[in-house]
Amino acid sequence: MTQQPTGAARVLILGGSLAGTLAAAALAPHAAEVLLVERDKALPDSAAPRPRLPQAAHAHMLWAGGADAIESLLPGMTDTWLKAGAHRIPIPNGMVSFSPAGWYRRWTETHYLIGASRDLIDWGVRTAVLALPNVSVRTGITVTALMGTASKVTGVRVRDENYAESELTADLVIDATGRDSKAPEWLTAIGAPDVPETVVDAGVRYASRRYRAPEGAESDWPVIHIQADPREGRPGQVVSIISIEDGQWHVSLSGTRGGEPSADGDLFEDFARGVRHPLAAEFLARAEPVSDVVVYGRTANRQRRFEKVAMPAGFVVVGDAATSLNPVYGHGMSAAALGAVALRDTAARVSVTAPRFAAQAQKAVARPAAAAWLLAVGQDRFYPGAIGKAPNFADKVAARYVHRLSHTAIGNFLVVKALTDVMTMKKPATVLGHPDVLLAAARGLRRPLLDGPQLTPAEQSILDREPRRAAEPTNL
Ligand SMILES: Cc1cc2nc3c(=O)[nH]c(=O)nc-3n(C[C@H](O)[C@H](O)[C@H](O)COP(=O)(O)OP(=O)(O)OC[C@H]3O[C@@H](n4cnc5c(N)ncnc54)[C@H](O)[C@@H]3O)c2cc1C
Repeated sequence: MTQQPTGAARVLILGGSLAGTLAAAALAPHAAEVLLVERDKALPDSAAPRPRLPQAAHAHMLWAGGADAIESLLPGMTDTWLKAGAHRIPIPNGMVSFSPAGWYRRWTETHYLIGASRDLIDWGVRTAVLALPNVSVRTGITVTALMGTASKVTGVRVRDENYAESELTADLVIDATGRDSKAPEWLTAIGAPDVPETVVDAGVRYASRRYRAPEGAESDWPVIHIQADPREGRPGQVVSIISIEDGQWHVSLSGTRGGEPSADGDLFEDFARGVRHPLAAEFLARAEPVSDVVVYGRTANRQRRFEKVAMPAGFVVVGDAATSLNPVYGHGMSAAALGAVALRDTAARVSVTAPRFAAQAQKAVARPAAAAWLLAVGQDRFYPGAIGKAPNFADKVAARYVHRLSHTAIGNFLVVKALTDVMTMKKPATVLGHPDVLLAAARGLRRPLLDGPQLTPAEQSILDREPRRAAEPTNL
């Protein structure tokens, strides 16, 4: 049953992508009217690409923490995705993962992730949000400035596709304009304080392509994930294969500074073969590429601490606009979803028109983003040529502990469960400091390391087929 909106507030949301639409879902029950403004000409009414979401050409993992958060904001969303062809992939058994510590065991399911294209995920959310009676969208509108003063934002200035300028007023403005958000400049222009910003940039570049999955591997297929090892002192290179809709695999390669993948399609599988293990390349050699290679390089971790300064009332920044993350860890969408839940919970306690709403909401939104931030920069600082503060003693101790946990996780269910809680954003990283986990890490492995990936007979049977493309022999 649709919840009846309460309150008389007009909420303006800048940016109609995932953080913006989820913020609309979070605030719609607490406002009379929610208006999304999006600079893209149109938002597709199917799971189709759009120009202002270039990252959708790259594999997007939606971990359980994020998926559950979206489900709590928009009940029934998981079913919508699954009916449209997404996969619910159990974790850790649905993951063949080569970590810095070795091959993970495929323990029984404790968590899951959603395997789908980013376009499908956004389409599901967007359709449900725009069906809410008090939510609407205007496309082709670019926000150019905030209106108001250092103590209260009252709306925004916008420009339409014909370069006509106008003003939109609101009781509450939410900035969800993503990585390129101009919020710090906009705030400066109305006299608000500077926002502290930290950047950690490992120089990660992505190259992605879709493949038609081999016959028999179109669904019920694990994520294949060959991770980098920041301790090796060389660029970190990663390959992920994720099963998405239409019997396709979405394949993303990534490399940190000095080890970036190329846009050349002929080199795509060579890169996959050159990472720490060739398993992913072996699977790709038995699948058919169905798209060109697309590259993307704006992947720095950037944290803007809006919650640390005296922000004007009536203005909150969410999603990538506040914290953008190196995508390799797959946490951006989940952090945005958990941020939207925090927004909803704040609105349930404090009226969205109250002067203190913005400060409280900004603090609440920052918490899940900070958790994801620590996971990303805790590794990225160690890659050669990383820009940003070098790892200090505490960072090095934390990194050693995380490695010890990854090593122990290979032979200890309790530890793999705790690590998966954190990786899927179901629980904060503090669970890794629980006495049982500390003790398990001290004791070490309970079972031996694996000398190769654990594959089911069906998965192995794909590798037993003739490769499409002749490759150097490799020992799997
Ligand atoms: C290569 C890559 C791979 C990724 N993989 C994953 C993954 O596996 N898992 C995961 O969880 N996350 C992943 N992410 C992160 C994820 O894409 C982002 O965290 C997510 O898109 C953030 O959503 P957002 O709504 O904050 O910003 P965006 O999705 O960037 O959307 C911002 C929106 O604001 C609009 N806009 C911008 N400026 C204006 C303006 N002035 N006026 C009006 N509208 C404006 C834009 O057109 C756009 O629609 C990946 C990112 C990249 C780059």
